[in-house]
Amino acid sequence: MADKLTAAARSAHMARIRGADTKPEWIVRRLLHVAGYRYRLQWKAAPGRPDIAFPGRRKAIFVHGCFWHQHVGCRLAHVPETRRAFWQEKFDRNRARDERDLAKAAELGWDVLVVWECETRNPVSVGERLTAFVGSTRADRGKMA
Ligand SMILES: [Zn+2]
Repeated sequence: MADKLTAAARSAHMARIRGADTKPEWIVRRLLHVAGYRYRLQWKAAPGRPDIAFPGRRKAIFVHGCFWHQHVGCRLAHVPETRRAFWQEKFDRNRARDERDLAKAAELGWDVLVVWECETRNPVSVGERLTAFVGSTRADRGKMA
């Protein structure tokens, strides 16, 4: 019985984490859209397949869930108590892939911004970072011309 409850609680917890993993990307997309940016999603031609790409500007945004990508020093990035070796291996693979993706993007001359899940909880500051990173919108450039 105790085991059953633990398993149920654990899967409920994991379901919450998985659900939360997609939400930060949605927040970032909405902020960009509201700011007037047009972008591509999961663009295959962009190095490392970023979540959001601006091909014309050679800028890429990776939105990372703190748990799956193991945000260093973040309270959302705990390693589960059970099956630690399994999780650690999974996290190590994810982080190695992240490093490869970011290195590949930089090598090809792309600017890269990583937005962490915990940062999307403050839409104002993350919105400012996004605008600073991407640069002026097409509408702004029109005004300048
Ligand atoms: Zn975090």
